[in-house]
Amino acid sequence: MGRAERKAEAREEIVRREQHRDRRRQISRILHKPAAERSPGERELLEGYAELVQELEKTRQRRERLRYREQEVVDGAEILQKKVLELAEAVRGAENLVIYTGAGISTAAAIPDYRGPSGVWTLLNKGRSVSTGDLSEAEPTFTHMCIARLHKAGLVQHVVSQNCDGLHLRSGLPRDATSEVHGNMYIEVCTSCSPHREYVRLFDVTERTALHKHNTGRSCHKCAEELRDSIVHFGERGKLAQPLNWVGAVKAAKAADVILCLGSSLKILKKYHCLWGMNRPSTRRPKLYIVNLQVRSKRNFSLKPSLKR
Ligand SMILES: [Zn+2]
Repeated sequence: MGRAERKAEAREEIVRREQHRDRRRQISRILHKPAAERSPGERELLEGYAELVQELEKTRQRRERLRYREQEVVDGAEILQKKVLELAEAVRGAENLVIYTGAGISTAAAIPDYRGPSGVWTLLNKGRSVSTGDLSEAEPTFTHMCIARLHKAGLVQHVVSQNCDGLHLRSGLPRDATSEVHGNMYIEVCTSCSPHREYVRLFDVTERTALHKHNTGRSCHKCAEELRDSIVHFGERGKLAQPLNWVGAVKAAKAADVILCLGSSLKILKKYHCLWGMNRPSTRRPKLYIVNLQVRSKRNFSLKPSLKR
């Protein structure tokens, strides 16, 4: 094919795409009108482009589902009271209560959550910037303090958190009762020392680290090797004993008869089947209680322990 032909073909392709885009816009405009207001010509056009109509309809439904899931729902006082009593009963009656926490329990500490209406992903998706403020000044919230207190009273056995903000640790919850499955932004580790040597800092150690780039720029005072952060990014697999403490999380989940999820959309955690007792016979799986402001339907949650909202 000659140069001129190739050029002509490329031009044609551009024109084709532009036409398609215009057609899409036109159809979309018609679809936005109430059916009764559409002219015979417009109706005909919709019939002629049934496939495009279907595609646009699917996009609209997807967008609507997303908007529905993003909105936050607060129960009325009466319903809330009933649910709280039911939950208190479950906490009291549990032999082995494990709590799973997500970003939602840290929003009161001015730490942004991920999927809420003003969450990090939502804002980034809309092309807006995210300001996180100085996270090192964040203090444990009422929720963190309650959890620590419940643990002290022997009512909670273990906490598995997706948060990296270190607030469970600051609340006084013991290390061995915590699994920070995505790491802790205040902990850097020397993996050359055996056992691994941990450095718990008062400042954020992740300033210079990123995905697949974990060296913090400081070195171990014992062996002089470089320290790394403890953060697990999406798509990475974390293996550190602490603060990730996967062994502790799995052991706790195995023993749990009640699981309480606080402020998490569970999108990530539900992928770890070992956390939900799914290998047990269905009658012996842990009871599951979910406290979250965002809508969580049974349909979206593909696991089948007894589910309460
Ligand atoms: Zn070392």
